[in-house]
Amino acid sequence: MISFFPFGKSGWLTTLSRCKSASLIPPPIMKPVPQKVIVPEVVISVPFKDFKWEIKNFSLMELTKTENREFLDQNRNFTQEQADKLAKLIKTCVYPVREKWGPITVKSAYRCKDLNVAIKGSKDSQHCKFEAIDFEVFGRREGEKLYEVFKWIWKESKIPFGQLIWELNEWIHISLGEPYRMKSDCGQVLVYKKDSKGNGKYERIA
Ligand SMILES: [Zn+2]
Repeated sequence: MISFFPFGKSGWLTTLSRCKSASLIPPPIMKPVPQKVIVPEVVISVPFKDFKWEIKNFSLMELTKTENREFLDQNRNFTQEQADKLAKLIKTCVYPVREKWGPITVKSAYRCKDLNVAIKGSKDSQHCKFEAIDFEVFGRREGEKLYEVFKWIWKESKIPFGQLIWELNEWIHISLGEPYRMKSDCGQVLVYKKDSKGNGKYERIA
C-alpha cells in the first residue's frame, strides 16, 4: 500500500501518523470481552423472629452484638429461656436508669464463652450467663457526667443489682442480683481501672 503514495515516508502519511499519536482520531471501538460476573451471595437472616420478646426500646440484636464478628453467630445462638433472662436484666437493672436519665446505649450484654476469652473477660463473668450489661447513657457518654448516673444507681436508685462497676471512666456495668448471685455477693460496687502496662484491676468500693 505505502508504495502507492507518491509523497513517500515524509509526505502526508507521516502527518496522518502524527495525528494518530496526538489522539485526534478516535481509538478503534473494542469489542467488550464477556466476563463472568460474580454476584456475592447475600444471606438475609431474620434472627430471633420466633422468640417471644416484649421488651420495648431494647432488641435482642443489640443485646447480643459484638464487634468481634467471628463470634457473632455463636453469640446469637441461645434459647428462649436465656432471652427471658436478658428481659429480666433490662426490666430490673436498666429500665429504672432509662426512666431517670434517658435513652441508653448498649455497649455489650451477652457474651458467649469464646468471645469472653478473646476479650479477656473475667472467668465467671455474668455477661456469659445473660445476666450483665455494659452501657452508656445517650448524651452522658463518659467521664464525669456518666459518673453521676453511676452514683445515682449506687446511692439512690434502690436497683437490686448484683454488681455495679464503673469501668475505665467510660461505661457502667450492671448485673442481676439474687437469685443469680448469692445474697452475700450482691450489692457490690467496684471500679475497674487499667495500669500503665494495660493490666486491668478491680477495686471494690462498697
Ligand atoms: Zn461488663
